[in-house]
Amino acid sequence: MAILNPQQEFDRLLKTIEQCRNAGLPAVASAKAGDLDMLKLAYDFASEAHKGQVRASGEPYIIHPLATAQKLAEMRLDLTTITAGLLHDVPEDTAFTLEDIKKNFGPEIAKLVEGITKLGKLKYRGMERYAENLRKMFVAMSDDIRVVLIKFADRLHNLKTLDVLPPDKQFRIAKETLEIYAPIADRLAIGQIKGELEDLAFKYVYPVDYKWITGIIPQEYKVKERSLKEIKEKVRKQLHDNNIQIDEISLQGRTKHLYSLYKKLLRPHINRDLSKIYDLIALRLIVPTMTDCYGALGILHSMYRPMPGRIKDYIANPKPNGYQSLHTTVFTDDGEIVEFQIRTREMHDQAEFGIAAHWNFKENGGKITAGNLKWLKELVEWQKQIKDNDQFLQTVKLDVFQNRIFVFTPKGDVIDLPEEATPIDFAYHVHSSLGDKCVGARVNDQLVNLGYQLKSGDIVEIITDKNRKMPNPDWIDMVKTSMARGKIRAAMNKQKK
Ligand code: MN
Repeated sequence: MAILNPQQEFDRLLKTIEQCRNAGLPAVASAKAGDLDMLKLAYDFASEAHKGQVRASGEPYIIHPLATAQKLAEMRLDLTTITAGLLHDVPEDTAFTLEDIKKNFGPEIAKLVEGITKLGKLKYRGMERYAENLRKMFVAMSDDIRVVLIKFADRLHNLKTLDVLPPDKQFRIAKETLEIYAPIADRLAIGQIKGELEDLAFKYVYPVDYKWITGIIPQEYKVKERSLKEIKEKVRKQLHDNNIQIDEISLQGRTKHLYSLYKKLLRPHINRDLSKIYDLIALRLIVPTMTDCYGALGILHSMYRPMPGRIKDYIANPKPNGYQSLHTTVFTDDGEIVEFQIRTREMHDQAEFGIAAHWNFKENGGKITAGNLKWLKELVEWQKQIKDNDQFLQTVKLDVFQNRIFVFTPKGDVIDLPEEATPIDFAYHVHSSLGDKCVGARVNDQLVNLGYQLKSGDIVEIITDKNRKMPNPDWIDMVKTSMARGKIRAAMNKQKK
């Protein structure tokens, strides 16, 4: 590994920030004049504080906070967060204190650094620690979401330099990444970070399968790549002839997101058969407007026959984490199967950068105001109430990391639930009293029983009886969310008293 030069790395950081500013990206564009001076001061301060310290890789320590700040800049975060990234290890690892940081850089930056320090050197040691770490993460996130974004950047660099650590440490850090960090990044819809975290951790947690995947992918690619280049040109011409402007058309090879490919391969109906993976290479189309997305889809389908059941309209029905795109899989003339992903630039940024794409950090100060993070607020409330760690982990597994579905109220409001949720879960997520008075449900205008498993896109209407006093105790076993279960228990206890 080449030893990096700190000053060069800092210059690179300044350049990235400059590019964000020139592109008019909100987080940096809204920075005040003095913010960049503050960043330079922070670099000098951190260099001084970490002076003489060396990482296990042999690099000067300052390279690590620099890499963390660089990643935050690439994630398009605000200067306050980037500056905190430079300082994130100062109180923990040097003679300088949080007080010193506050004095020199003000309360906002100090608070972020404090958040990181509180998360501490998270160590994955068995289930107890796992639960504790998760609790800490969620509390830190609800306090200021930027703390966790810094933690992601910190972890990414640690993973990149993991080779120099002993194998047991490698495994522990990588496993924790797959179990805690990546699912949270996914839930925050930061697809780019989620993919990077997973791919870096993959080889340490599943070394044999990692070898298998990286061994089979390249040949598969080469075959497909050639025919796809032709298809790409055909599509480009056809769209042009139909007056649809293309901002970008690119091959999305699966050199990235290997871990998610791996998880797909393990699904029972795929059973490690690579020929059943249709998006090994996808063609991504970025067009100016939503209307163009549908226009492009129509043109593609007039050129190539679509595979039934593989047309997904995530524009009309976004994924619960906000992901929007049109997906379709088609048969090409020479029998290839190709996936297309069609989206606008805005949708693309949302998919890659998630909450960071449109977050106005200056205004919100990292506070969660976005409606799509309601789950996080709920979870923080829950974690206070659930003292037992096993039960807490169950909650998280069920309510956060499980695959999600989205269903609609009759008015069209979206309710985000875990898979296999029932109308009772739905009712309690809308309102406690709707749950308590629930006697039946209509899904897409059909009467269903209360144990019915909801599917994404269902329109759910709850039938209530206003004279009903309390929920049916049997429901405890029918619901899938701990929120509904908790509310049923609460109603029953109240009735007893
Ligand atoms: Mn660090």
